[in-house]
Amino acid sequence: MIALERGITAVDAIDPNGIATCLEQAALPEKSRVRGILARARTLEGLTQGEAAVLTAVTEPELLHELFDAARFVKNEIYGRRLVLFAPLYYSSFCRNNCLYCGFRRENAQPRRRLELAEVAAETRTLIDQGHKRVLVIAGEEGTAGAFSYLLDVLATVYEQKTDRGEIRRVNLETAPMTIPQFRELKAARIGTYVVFQETYHPEVYRRMHPGGPKADYRWRLETMDRAMEAGIDDVGIGALFGLHDWRFEVLALLAHARHLDARYGAGPHTISVPRIEPAPGAPAALNPPNPVSDADFRKLVAILRLAVPYTGIILSTRESADLRRELFDLGVSQLSAGSRTSPGGYHEHVGGDSATLQFSVNDNRGLDEVVADIAAHGYIPSFCTGCYRTGRTGHDFMELAKPGLIRDRCLPNALLTFQEYLLDCATPGTREIGERVIEEALAGEIPAGERPMIRDALERIRQGYRDLFL
Ligand code: SF4
Ligand code: SF4
Repeated sequence: MIALERGITAVDAIDPNGIATCLEQAALPEKSRVRGILARARTLEGLTQGEAAVLTAVTEPELLHELFDAARFVKNEIYGRRLVLFAPLYYSSFCRNNCLYCGFRRENAQPRRRLELAEVAAETRTLIDQGHKRVLVIAGEEGTAGAFSYLLDVLATVYEQKTDRGEIRRVNLETAPMTIPQFRELKAARIGTYVVFQETYHPEVYRRMHPGGPKADYRWRLETMDRAMEAGIDDVGIGALFGLHDWRFEVLALLAHARHLDARYGAGPHTISVPRIEPAPGAPAALNPPNPVSDADFRKLVAILRLAVPYTGIILSTRESADLRRELFDLGVSQLSAGSRTSPGGYHEHVGGDSATLQFSVNDNRGLDEVVADIAAHGYIPSFCTGCYRTGRTGHDFMELAKPGLIRDRCLPNALLTFQEYLLDCATPGTREIGERVIEEALAGEIPAGERPMIRDALERIRQGYRDLFL
């Protein structure tokens, strides 16, 4: 195994005691201090850990209102109205870990399944036919001798599939932490974003929640993204499972993790995910979360993350209800899963998934077309864009555009072009009608006048049959 080069890793950069002290010092903040922080957040420069800690202590309705207003402002300045859509693709529920919040944990006597490559192909083709262009490949940690090479076969299989409705253009990956040589192979396999959640950054809670298997090693997991970056994967996604420990602690730890990656490797995380614990069969900590997060606190934590790391996408899953998802788009979420099935084979075999084999339950059970119509009807632009990945605009190159807010100039046109593809290839007539209206509104509104002819021309080419146009 190749060790990390010497230097600071995430384990050194994230100080649990320092975070606890920071939160204590931030309690009961003055109004003027909160307003000063919100004014600074509106400059799009992000927040320090201390500033974010102050915002976690805000409870007064008037200040909360101002906090949410600031989050809406930053969200709109950087991301505009686009929302990127993707679907998870589970290929194995075998796992040697025993995470107390997960239905796939090894001591849970649920039926296990690893999809054959032909089944992976069938799942992929079902997702393509629904209209997806991005998937997040997910599996439990098998740890068997052939598990890694099988993962490479799965990735290749997903990329190989084509139907008359297109292909998957970006395969993101969420699997067990890898070694540096494995990360190099994953890079060669053309993965998009590599995602690993720390689940909880609190070492003691982490120990209690992970009683067995390699995942019990807090340090090995926390240094995952250091190894990924060392191996040349510069597009990574971090996250915490909210409900395991105090949400305020996790928010500050996520920020420390993001700052560390940015400082050491010149590229912060591409995304931060904010899953909240949902019931899962045979998972005691999911049925009875140790630190449940209320909807009110969940809104607040999304808004604070939006202000603190404006250039990092925030991902929301179908764990949350449709109503709450709509509110959170406004406060900072920029990517969401839609039509998700959380068990292997869930897409092409059965409509709702077998509840005994799920990793966790979802609250938004709507199909992709319904979600797209709903998003569009509420003023957002559904996007299937994969432009950055396809132009090699990742890591430092991406951050150069993202940090000053310039990425929006690419995101919006790409959203319109990929949405137009979706409307032509996959949408129901009702969704198409709403969508065409949204595209016209954007062309008459936020697209700068000088760019409209070029975008109109590209949209016309798509109507004539061209596909995969992007900036
Ligand atoms: Fe395995 Fe991941 Fe579930 Fe833990 S969370 S039991 S590692 S699938
Ligand atoms: Fe994402 Fe880049 Fe497309 Fe914007 S242009 S939606 S950042 S892939």
